[in-house]
Amino acid sequence: MNLFGEFFQEQRIRETQKEARRANEKAVDATSTTLDLRKRVDGLALANQALFEILQLRLGISEEEVLQRMAEIDGRDGVRDGKMAACVVPCRSCGRKVSTARQRCMYCGSPVADGHLFEKI
Ligand SMILES: [Zn+2]
Repeated sequence: MNLFGEFFQEQRIRETQKEARRANEKAVDATSTTLDLRKRVDGLALANQALFEILQLRLGISEEEVLQRMAEIDGRDGVRDGKMAACVVPCRSCGRKVSTARQRCMYCGSPVADGHLFEKI
């Protein structure tokens, strides 16, 4: 291999090493994000279990009632996919259509009162 060929090959190796480092950094970031999300999900599951057990003890609410309500809420957007979709509703102040996933109307800033409780968190 001539000098130019060796130079080109070394340059390609350095570029490939840079790409590998960037990919590794992205993988570390993704792992960190996944661990953070897992921690949040675990915390929410714990809070939900605690609330359910309090309701079960105080009001006699059964798991079956909770599961039925979950299915009903899941189907409100017309799709039973295990997700709670945001809805589009008219703003109570300006009347324009806003997503219930938003805390405030993007047009007038009024609070969006409709939607699911956990969309506001
Ligand atoms: Zn508005």
